[in-house]
Amino acid sequence: MRIVSGMRPTGKLHLGHYFGVIRNWIKLQNEHETFFFIADWHALTTAYKKTQDLKNHIRDVMIDWLALGLEPEKGTLFIQSRVKEHAELHLIFSMITPKSWLEWNPTYKDMKYNLLRLSEIELQFRGGLRDVVRQFLNMIPYKVEDFERFEEHLLEDLSSTFISALFEGEIEPELLKKINVSKRDFYDTDTYGFLGYPVLQSADILIYKGQGVPVGEDQLPHIELSREIARRFNSLYGDIFPEPEALLTETPKILGTDGRKMSKSYNNAIYFADTEEEVETKVMKMFTDPQKLRKNDPGRPNVCPVFSYHRLFTPQDKVEEINGDCRSGALGCVDCKKIMIHSLEEFLKPIRERRHQIQKNIRKVEQIFIEGSISARNVALETMEQVRQAINLK
Ligand code: SF4
Repeated sequence: MRIVSGMRPTGKLHLGHYFGVIRNWIKLQNEHETFFFIADWHALTTAYKKTQDLKNHIRDVMIDWLALGLEPEKGTLFIQSRVKEHAELHLIFSMITPKSWLEWNPTYKDMKYNLLRLSEIELQFRGGLRDVVRQFLNMIPYKVEDFERFEEHLLEDLSSTFISALFEGEIEPELLKKINVSKRDFYDTDTYGFLGYPVLQSADILIYKGQGVPVGEDQLPHIELSREIARRFNSLYGDIFPEPEALLTETPKILGTDGRKMSKSYNNAIYFADTEEEVETKVMKMFTDPQKLRKNDPGRPNVCPVFSYHRLFTPQDKVEEINGDCRSGALGCVDCKKIMIHSLEEFLKPIRERRHQIQKNIRKVEQIFIEGSISARNVALETMEQVRQAINLK
């Protein structure tokens, strides 16, 4: 099976990238034909104003990929923007993709919500309206069976109308100021490229006639869109593209040091580029069970982020022992973290050493990705020949 997948270059990779993506890619490169790319054009969809670090971020990703075990001898590793044909196919797909397919894409809606703090605004709006809605419900002359549910429905409808009005520019500037939103936020975030990035993603996959795409559940609508675009293209111009399958992968969730999702933006990540001392400092500050205040208090490993790391890095028999000792109060959090640091280091140390070696010869690293991009481009050119002929552009 031919597998295609990409990663945005956002800087040095952390444990979350490994468990969420790279570990699976390493397995796939051993079993299939793979094309893995650094999605630098995708990085521009939301961070087009901050490109000053882009080159360094790309370099960091290249180094980490190789240090973690992706091998150019097994699969094609390349940089998206070095294969300009992705952009050409994106343009052609843009012509045949109805706008509504993109606007109704749940991932797009979610991202827009997150980027524009819309959930927060919606909450504020709902809070302000609750009393008014309650008064209104008390005034209506018939009995509402499930009052609370009805109230929630009404608030939901009103707030989504409010959010739509925000996007349509129908909200007065004074109100926008009050909720701390500027029109600029909307213009800056809600761009043509942002709306169309799943079309670019479809071009990224289909230009290699990718049959499988490893994804998490949140990416499923995008793969569905790629399938729809492939179907539409084939029905208009002839059978060229396969319909790619989503390869859903179970990945263990690795928490950040503060117990939230591990993310660079939360400043809670453990990086492969971290020194042993940096890892130790981060782990010693990690959140634990908030109810275990003193060393001898009984703890709850199931709610403790440190214990979730033990599950991943500490040998199984030792994990059982820690579980029991935490619950009985025989083990304190400081000692528990020291054991965890030791286990984590067993995993990180060889990767860190490989990283150092690879970093010493950055020219070679760049060469690997240039050669990978040339190989990828040869495949992309073949597809584009067929596409141009099919639509009489040649
Ligand atoms: S002893 Fe270990 S598992 Fe238990 S709460 Fe403390 S850090 Fe977490």
